[in-house]
Amino acid sequence: MQNNIQNNLISWYNQNHRHFPWRETNNPYYIWISEIMLQQTTTEAVIPYYIRFIETFDTIDKLAQAPLEEVYKLWEGLGYYRRAKHIHETAKFIVENYHGQFPTTYQEILKLKGIGPYTAGAICSIAYGFSTPAIDGNVLRIISRLYALTDNIALSKTQKKISQIVSELLTGYDASAFNQGLMDLGATICRPLNPQCQQCPIASFCKAKQTGQEKVLPISIKNIKHKELQYITGIITYQNQYFMVQNPAGLLENLYGFVQYEIESPYRFIEEFEKEYDIPLSLISYHGQVKHVFTHRTWHMHIYHFTLSQPLLSMYELDDIAKIPVSTAHLKVLKQYLKQI
Ligand code: SF4
Repeated sequence: MQNNIQNNLISWYNQNHRHFPWRETNNPYYIWISEIMLQQTTTEAVIPYYIRFIETFDTIDKLAQAPLEEVYKLWEGLGYYRRAKHIHETAKFIVENYHGQFPTTYQEILKLKGIGPYTAGAICSIAYGFSTPAIDGNVLRIISRLYALTDNIALSKTQKKISQIVSELLTGYDASAFNQGLMDLGATICRPLNPQCQQCPIASFCKAKQTGQEKVLPISIKNIKHKELQYITGIITYQNQYFMVQNPAGLLENLYGFVQYEIESPYRFIEEFEKEYDIPLSLISYHGQVKHVFTHRTWHMHIYHFTLSQPLLSMYELDDIAKIPVSTAHLKVLKQYLKQI
C-alpha cells in the first residue's frame, strides 16, 4: 500500500478509532441523529442521549408520530433545543416525501432542515460511502497545518479552499474512514493546543511540523460579538406551586422557564409582570445569581422570589416540573433557589 496521507490516515483510523454507539451502524437515520446531537456538544455528553433517543424512536416513522413535547423531553439537558424541533419537522417531512426512508443524495440531504454542508457530508460519506468532504473546525485545523496554510479559517473563502483540498484527497479512497479519521485525529492528536506530532500518522507529510508552525497554525480570527445580558429572573409561587411559562420563540423556543426581564431592579420586575399578567406580586427574597453561557451570549440571572395572592394558569408543583421540558438555564435557577430555602 502506497505511503500517502490517505492510506496512512485510513489505516490509523481502522486500527485506533474511538468506539461510539453511532459507529456501530451505517443506518443514515441513526447517523443523522448522532451528527445533530454532536453539534456543539461533546461525544461523552451525547452517548446516553443518543442511546435513549434511538431506543425510543428506532424508526423515522416513530419519531414523526411522536408529540414534539416527547422529543424535547428526551433532549432536555443537551442544549440548543432548536435542533430537536428541526429533527422532528424533518422526520415528518421524510415520512411525507420519502415514505419514511432517509434520502440518498447529497443535494436532497442538504435541503433538509437543520442540515448544513458538514452534516450532509458526514452522513453521505459514513452511511453511503460517497466522496463528500465534512469540513468542521477539526478539519480546518488539520488541513491548515498539513499544508501550512496561513489563510484565516474563519473566512468562508478559506473554508471553500479547504473543502476543495479534502474533496481531492478523498476521491478514490474510503471516504467514511477518511472523514472519521480526520475527526479522531483532531480530537485526540492534532488538538488546538500542543498537537502530539510524534504520534501523528500523517506527520511525515505535515508542512507545519516541517517548518515549526504546528503551534501557530491555524489562523482563526473571528469577529463575533459576545453579548452579556443581565436578567431579573422571578421564582413566582403560590403555596407550593411555581409559575412557569413556555417560550413561544427565540433561543429556548418551546421550553419552559421562569419569567425574566432584562431590567435592573426587582421592583421594575413587579411593574413589568403586573403590566403583562394583570395580577399583583409580593417581593419575598433574593437568591443570588446564576450564569448561563450560550455560543454568542451569556445570561446573568439574578434570582428573586415573589409570591402571588391567587394562582395563575400554568402553575406547577416540583414533581410536575420534572415532567415538562425545562431549559437548562432555568433548571440551574431552580436548583440555586431550592438550595437556599
Ligand atoms: S504532524 Fe502535528 S501538526 Fe501536523 S497534522 Fe500531525 S499532529 Fe497535526
